[in-house]
Amino acid sequence: MQLLDGKQASSYYRAKILEKIEQLKKTGAPPPRLAAFLIGDNKASAMYVRMKEKACSESGIATRTHILDGQTPESEIIELIKKENADPETAGILVQLPLPKHYDEKKILSFIDPAKDADCFLPQNIGHMFLGDETTVIPCTPLGVMKLLKYYKISVASKEVCIIGRSNIVGKPLAYLMLKENATVTVCHSKTLNLKDVARRADILVAAIGRANMIDASYIKPGAVVVDVGINRIETPDKKQLTCGDCDFDSASKAASWITPVPGGVGPMTIAMLLYNTLYNYVLIKKIDIKMDIEP
Ligand code: NDP
Repeated sequence: MQLLDGKQASSYYRAKILEKIEQLKKTGAPPPRLAAFLIGDNKASAMYVRMKEKACSESGIATRTHILDGQTPESEIIELIKKENADPETAGILVQLPLPKHYDEKKILSFIDPAKDADCFLPQNIGHMFLGDETTVIPCTPLGVMKLLKYYKISVASKEVCIIGRSNIVGKPLAYLMLKENATVTVCHSKTLNLKDVARRADILVAAIGRANMIDASYIKPGAVVVDVGINRIETPDKKQLTCGDCDFDSASKAASWITPVPGGVGPMTIAMLLYNTLYNYVLIKKIDIKMDIEP
């Protein structure tokens, strides 16, 4: 078994992104900025935003984080989004989800300028992506999965790919990206019958479920590549908090030829792709002539 090491692959991609930012500086353009909105007191969201800020500062991308309490009126959040839309240095706008329940998430996101949608959450961008528009941004996590496989030279073409999970931010866009690369794709979900049998057909199995340690060796065709997107927090019998994936790593790694660890797999790739999308938007908005290829 070999590790699909997201820390190693993301360092490679982040170095490439840094090179592009250095090129950008030479044109005299100010650095691009990611504007993040952290609303309410979700601890995991606060941690993700901090990780994203750190990654930006290490890559020469400026950040401005709006930390707002959970009682902030929707109109105030929308006004701040509009200000970021109008700021020429802001190239990425990210509203960290989930928002506290009383907000209308869809409505708030709809005020982000599609040209500054760092996550590719907006229907305009998702729509363009599904129609094969090569210039649109791509959601960070699915893009990160594809770049991770590319880094390890694992081709998906003509392979049987099974994705467990059909969310708008992971499963569905990933299915599209796999199809685009000529994989034969099956998408499973909570109503799929005989999930193990379907999963065991796959040459490449992706778990994006949100169920800690659910996928063990019995779901995996011997020698398959396994990508674990899940990030789950569990409590150990001695009351310690632990982060784990959707795969039972010890069991799954006995069947898989390649497997992502959690943490250290898809997570760092997602962050690297957020940096990529922010820079990508900036280059398009400012019409700067820099090639955005970053693959090995
Ligand atoms: P969602 O909850 O939106 O979707 C989960 C999907 O899994 C749904 O399609 C659901 O089916 C399916 N599912 C749930 N239970 C089962 C089951 N028992 N059998 C088969 N399918 C099942 O989650 P997300 O897509 O947002 O996230 C998935 C996981 O990935 C989470 O752990 C999340 O934390 C993690 N994540 C990690 C990221 C990273 O950077 N590494 C980024 C984003 C998410 P149905 O549609 O029928 O309900």
